[in-house]
Amino acid sequence: MERAYAFAKKAHGSQKRASGEPYITHPVEVADILAELKLDTDTIITALLHDTVEDTQATIEDVRNEFGERVAYLVDGVTKLTQLELTSEHTKQAENFRKLVLAMSRDLRVLLVKLADRLHNMRTLHHMAKEETRQRIAQETMDIYAPLAGLIGMQSFRDELEDLAFQVLNAEARESIIRRLAYLETKGVDVVGRIIRDLRNALAEQGLEARVNGRMKRPYSIWRKMAHKSVVFEQLADTMGFRIITNSVEDCYRALGIVHTNWPMVPERFKDYISTPKRNDYRSIHTTVIGPDKRRIELQIRTEGMDEIAERGLAAHWQYKYANGEDTPLTDSLAYRSLAQFVHVLEDGSTPDEFLENTKLEMFQDQVFCFTPKGQLITLPAGATPVDFAYAVHTRVGDTCVGAKINGHHRPLRTRLRNGDMVEVIRSRAQTPMPEWEKFVVTGRARYQIRKFIRQTRRQEFSRLGESIARKVFAEHDCDFSEKTVKGALKRLKLPSVEDVYVAVGEGELQAIDLVKAVFPGLPIDEESARRAPSRKKKSKASETVPIAIRGLVPGIAVHMGQCCHPLPGDRIVGIQASGQGVVVHTIDCETLEQYQDAPELWLDLAWDDVEASGHVPVARIAILLSHEPGALGAVSTIVAKQGGNISNLKITDRNPLFFEMVLDLEVEDVKHLTEIIAALRTNGLVQSVERVRGEEHDTQRGA
Ligand code: MN
Repeated sequence: MERAYAFAKKAHGSQKRASGEPYITHPVEVADILAELKLDTDTIITALLHDTVEDTQATIEDVRNEFGERVAYLVDGVTKLTQLELTSEHTKQAENFRKLVLAMSRDLRVLLVKLADRLHNMRTLHHMAKEETRQRIAQETMDIYAPLAGLIGMQSFRDELEDLAFQVLNAEARESIIRRLAYLETKGVDVVGRIIRDLRNALAEQGLEARVNGRMKRPYSIWRKMAHKSVVFEQLADTMGFRIITNSVEDCYRALGIVHTNWPMVPERFKDYISTPKRNDYRSIHTTVIGPDKRRIELQIRTEGMDEIAERGLAAHWQYKYANGEDTPLTDSLAYRSLAQFVHVLEDGSTPDEFLENTKLEMFQDQVFCFTPKGQLITLPAGATPVDFAYAVHTRVGDTCVGAKINGHHRPLRTRLRNGDMVEVIRSRAQTPMPEWEKFVVTGRARYQIRKFIRQTRRQEFSRLGESIARKVFAEHDCDFSEKTVKGALKRLKLPSVEDVYVAVGEGELQAIDLVKAVFPGLPIDEESARRAPSRKKKSKASETVPIAIRGLVPGIAVHMGQCCHPLPGDRIVGIQASGQGVVVHTIDCETLEQYQDAPELWLDLAWDDVEASGHVPVARIAILLSHEPGALGAVSTIVAKQGGNISNLKITDRNPLFFEMVLDLEVEDVKHLTEIIAALRTNGLVQSVERVRGEEHDTQRGA
């Protein structure tokens, strides 16, 4: 350590901190913070050296020669985190975060040094001249470092980081909370001290040995409560927190009994994290009671050991591991396993932004504990659903889940789970993840898997669409089309596979005609006509009663297409004989059919005939959600026209500043054609969603 101090002092030379102090004061303070956590020598040395490679002439080789492989590895890790931090662009920042978490999973000491470094920089942030810099660093602390400290269970780091960041980000709110706390204190004449005495006396009367301490809550935790529950300060009674530290787990429950006998407890505020620990290994009993002056008092009851872990988190584990000769491998702790899960999500790819968003969500919410039928405990964020549960058990369980039994009863998959629920996941091998799940799942793991599946499905859709476009255009130019011919042009197109070519054509990134030219470079092509969209022949108007090409009908009878389900050639259909209206055709899954369930005599078995020859133009109905931006509507009509469809009716059903929702009637050839149009619409960035409309909700003119 002495050598490390000398090395750092020499390397930093005459460098100064923003405060004007010699630079060496900073690494010494960082080392001091970590020494208080009783961390090992390598960590302290790393703290002393942590800025030498980044900020001075010293190299990582110098560090390796002087202090060995292990320290060099740790210093290198911290240096990399520091370098990544320097890029301030948002996506870059998220990416840094991802690498940061990865680095920490390899050796947590890298993260511990980084957190101590950040803590000291936050303590001295007021020396920074530029307001903009202070804001950025404070925001980053609030978004990334404080939650990370919480994630690995280092509550004292988290509290201080949050409070320091809060000072910069919302000084006014913090000031007003502090003033209010001070006022309450003067009015109550040392309320905290009095309650501590009351608690001590009550415990002593029953002969229970325990430490009691208490304090006013930190301004930021009060602020977060006010923001979260949208209550004003006066309504927020619990501004004080107390802690009872006992010698054993039994004493925790005895103390709890004594507290509840002396003061009424507030229902629904009781939590027992001793019998079911949080996933960062946090253990404690939480309760709220109505104390003197009708004030609500928050109490935590735990043992010395639990308190140690609550305050110092993984740092305590780390020390334990070395001090006690490996009897508890670090990898066995719950906290470590939750880290490993994050890393798993990260390594699987997906965009950094998506991860940051999911992680923020997960870390700020409280938790819910559920059990598998075999009694395995699954910890999830509050608000989690059976789908989240299934994905937490295993990816394959999530992918194939079709239903859930909660405490023995069938419940919808969107049900919010409650503490203690026993959840049985019902699976089917035929099931695949449903896009709708994304609307209600809350865990990053579940959302990631669902999105991944949707991405894959979209790709397949575009690939099919691209192939059929290509086939058509090749035929129009009398060119042979096969996978083999396309393969020959891969190099010229700079695409890795035939599927990638089809996807590019399907997404509109590659024009089919350019594909033809790439495959047959010498071919003379009439550019003008070739770039026109593939033309569809029929343009006649849809009418209510038409000579429809359907088999199974009595000649001469009037036929209507159900305005509820808009059957298209390719759909499976049935006819209903309605009195005075002839026959109404419905798709087999149309909800309207339910009302005819008890009248089998009205049902007709129908099938599509040669639609092309009949001149009938099928009409499909779709619902689109569009971004409310100029050109959005134009883009939709262009896409539909390019795909050979025709908009015959349009109705805006909802409009707000961000989106508008509308229903379109489209003249199409058949189901396949409609699917192509929908896939093409989905490629447009302004289109949020497209669905074919079925069922009765849009039924305005059925049978008219
Ligand atoms: Mn530093």
